[in-house]
Amino acid sequence: MVYHLKVAVDLPELPEVEAFKFYIEQSLLQEIKELDVRDRRFFVTSIKDFRKKLIGNLFESVDRRGKFLIVNLQLYSLKLIFHFGMTGNLSYIKTGTPEEKYVRIIFLFNNGYELRLIDQRRFGKLYLVESVSQVKTIRNMGPEPLEIGEKEFLEICDNHARRTAKSLLMDQSIIAGIGNMYSDEILYQADIRPDTKVMNLTRDEKTRILNKTKEILRKVIKADADLNKLKDFLLLYRKRGAKCPRCGGEVEILKMSNRTSYYCPRCQS
Ligand SMILES: [Zn+2]
Repeated sequence: MVYHLKVAVDLPELPEVEAFKFYIEQSLLQEIKELDVRDRRFFVTSIKDFRKKLIGNLFESVDRRGKFLIVNLQLYSLKLIFHFGMTGNLSYIKTGTPEEKYVRIIFLFNNGYELRLIDQRRFGKLYLVESVSQVKTIRNMGPEPLEIGEKEFLEICDNHARRTAKSLLMDQSIIAGIGNMYSDEILYQADIRPDTKVMNLTRDEKTRILNKTKEILRKVIKADADLNKLKDFLLLYRKRGAKCPRCGGEVEILKMSNRTSYYCPRCQS
């Protein structure tokens, strides 16, 4: 069996990290016999410590928080936390299978399989901690979008009324797991321009944003983050001059706080 790179997207967000869980799930309860490190910069603490605590250990279960993957280890009550940065990816594959490009770290298991951490641009991080709150971004993280109720979301909007709709969705300390790509998608499907100030949204529009957030994230998770399965999504049209899949108008670009937003001026007003 080959478990192999189904997710191929830059800047992994909540649905991609949810799909990465799959690779870890394949490796659960297999003893780690070796750690092959080709790049040390991923380790937040000493590599010696990682080796000591990981070799002989087992992945017991896996969770996700925002864009982080949290692997509970069987020994030492430790958690191994993955952050995938800009181009992080995983594959779980039989040892000896030809390698993908940019493999940085390999966890070799006793069953003859290995988990490869692949990362072209190397902004990914690996933490080994006793508690998730030791990772600052997680400690300060807002609620999981799939768990936010309407009342809570309206409060969030009130507390950040001066922000734009786009920056509200993207700020990890306000709502977890959503980045540039899915915030564009949510606002596209909710028919709201990304630069609309939260204070200028009606109550209906706010509710629509929340509902679309949940609907889109669930759909992408269900599609295993395979964007080609998502018809009528803006996701596939994030390039200059592309045509809006709903109205055929031209997709335009908006620069906001160093981020490029894609939107359809006809559908989103
Ligand atoms: Zn349109």
